[in-house]
Amino acid sequence: MFVVDLNNPFAMDSEAIVIRIKTPIGDMDSSVDCPSLLNFNDLLVAIRDVMPEATVTAFEYEDEVGDRITVRSDEELKAMLSYYCNTMNEQRMNGLLPDPLQIFPRGTRKIFVTCASVKLFYVTSCSLKKSSAELKRILTNGQINAQDIHYQEQLGHGNGGTVYKAYHIHGKRVLAVKVIPLDITVELQKQIMSELEILYKCDSPYIITFFSAFFVENRISICTEFMDGGSLDVYKRIPEHVLGRIAVAVVKGLTYLWSLKILHRDVKPSNMLVNTRGQVKLCDFGVSTQLVNSIAKTYVGTNVYMAPERISGEQYGIHADVWSVGISFMELALGMFPYPQVIMIDENIIYCLNSFCSPSQDPPVLPVEQFSEKFVHFITQCMRRQPKERPAPNNLMDHSFIVQYNDDNAEVVSMWVCRCLEERRAQQNQGRV
Ligand code: ATP
Ligand code: MG
Repeated sequence: MFVVDLNNPFAMDSEAIVIRIKTPIGDMDSSVDCPSLLNFNDLLVAIRDVMPEATVTAFEYEDEVGDRITVRSDEELKAMLSYYCNTMNEQRMNGLLPDPLQIFPRGTRKIFVTCASVKLFYVTSCSLKKSSAELKRILTNGQINAQDIHYQEQLGHGNGGTVYKAYHIHGKRVLAVKVIPLDITVELQKQIMSELEILYKCDSPYIITFFSAFFVENRISICTEFMDGGSLDVYKRIPEHVLGRIAVAVVKGLTYLWSLKILHRDVKPSNMLVNTRGQVKLCDFGVSTQLVNSIAKTYVGTNVYMAPERISGEQYGIHADVWSVGISFMELALGMFPYPQVIMIDENIIYCLNSFCSPSQDPPVLPVEQFSEKFVHFITQCMRRQPKERPAPNNLMDHSFIVQYNDDNAEVVSMWVCRCLEERRAQQNQGRV
């Protein structure tokens, strides 16, 4: 049975636990006799055995508010088991039978085999894989209904709409809900819904998770994962060693989108979100042309992060996203926008923006004495006036600045986010006194 170890959360329970692996073809329950001896690789091997066609490198579990937490190491596995043990004990104390520990592999596909280290058996064989028709039905009906959402505070307000922190009662999770007023026909509403379908297929640790979208009267609500660190535009100057890790995540997120033939089209600090776990994720990418067009009709202001070729109305592609990466990171490093801030009210603004489109004016460069050579080079390359001279996706990942910080060190970002949030809280408290 169980090896007693007083340093581990299961020591007192000395009993097996049931891990439920959620796979595309159903739930697989695995009985684990000695949870204290389980390690990350064993579990990953078991998952890969039941999903041989998938490339599973990690899995997730849900915390008490339904937030998905990724497990990629023994440390994180220990934290998950400890969390589960507490939940199990609480359920027992309330006279309930403990639920299995549910884990969600990152990946899809099927096939079931028995694995030597963990005993697996089917519980249900219901298909969890969403077909296109099913997705459409879910989107049209709204997988999350307006009445199931409890709105909490307002997180921010952009040009398109307002973002709220909200709680989804049935899903038991915290969400960010973006509400956009749109005066459009039902036909166009349907088109937007169908264009948003691709969001269900996006599965990357560097892209915000999409849960659902629905129309209520003339407003669309888009429900996504909530990031407790918010967006990068509200952080002041970000130190280079933190910015390096953020840049790696942004480049990986964009590379993922580009691999799906999606251009982001709105790369800027307010669309880069962080959390206290040190994750960095991109949001608000333009998957729905119809939605982008509909918002554009009521759009006040302009996007100062746009590449020169976009501002001057030429054709653009991936390289336009790369420009926006450059100017965004320049702003995040300097703590201010590198050009005079402009507001799109009259034709003067066109003039102002065109000033960096004009061939006579070179794009700005980071001050070499304040930043490393690699970082300055990275920004300069991303902001080359000629789109083709900017790095292509694979060159971005190979850039020495990105290579230097591509070390999976989420701790650096996590500590920095926590410190900034702490400072912000202290300032708010001082303001109240
Ligand atoms: P624009 O409308 O020009 O794109 P924006 O990105 O600032 O500007 P919104 O996308 O409406 O505007 O977002 C408003 C704010 O809400 C963001 O700046 C961010 O701070 C916050 N926010 C958005 N999504 C989330 C999320 N998933 N989790 C936490 N905060 C979020
Ligand atoms: Mg945004």
